Amino acid sequence: MNDLKSLIRTIPDFPKKGIQFKDITTLIKDPQGLRQAVAQMQERFADETIDCVIGIESRGFIFASILAYEWGVGMVPVRKPGKLPAKTLSESFTLEYGMDSLEIHSDALEPNSRVLIVDDLLATGGTVLATIRLVERLQARVAGCCFLIELDFLKGRNHLVDYRVESLIHYAAEA
Ligand code: AMP
Repeated sequence: MNDLKSLIRTIPDFPKKGIQFKDITTLIKDPQGLRQAVAQMQERFADETIDCVIGIESRGFIFASILAYEWGVGMVPVRKPGKLPAKTLSESFTLEYGMDSLEIHSDALEPNSRVLIVDDLLATGGTVLATIRLVERLQARVAGCCFLIELDFLKGRNHLVDYRVESLIHYAAEA
């Protein structure tokens, strides 16, 4: 247990019955919590060359933007369908609570550039896998995937064995 975990709130049955929703708003409104979370993410990837940080809509944007700013690189959003205005690539995936797809601008990444993918939470891994496919379709390279929270019991990491995955807070079991 690290102290970031004490700033996360679990909301039962949101957005639907059976989901234990991890609410990060209580962490990001805490000045030390937000600073600590970003600092720990930076530390985890301090040894990597990162040309660009990808944020997954919407809570991934929060951490991806600050990391990109801190490293002096660009931030690229991966968004839900119909939100990005220019030409996009799209990937579908299964979510812990439903089916969805994600899009990236077709010209968002330089071929061979090294990108860090950032989201608030790793559950089954479907969201990040779809994002990895988008990155690789644009011929860029995944330097790693960084999460604030990982739900270990959903074993999303098992689908990501070829990639470096770092999560700051772990939940071994539901609840
Ligand atoms: P997955 O594709 O199953 O790894 O789900 C990860 C995505 O769904 C992330 O973008 C999370 O924000 C969101 N998500 C899934 N499960 C939860 C949960 N229990 N609490 C909060 N967000 C979740």
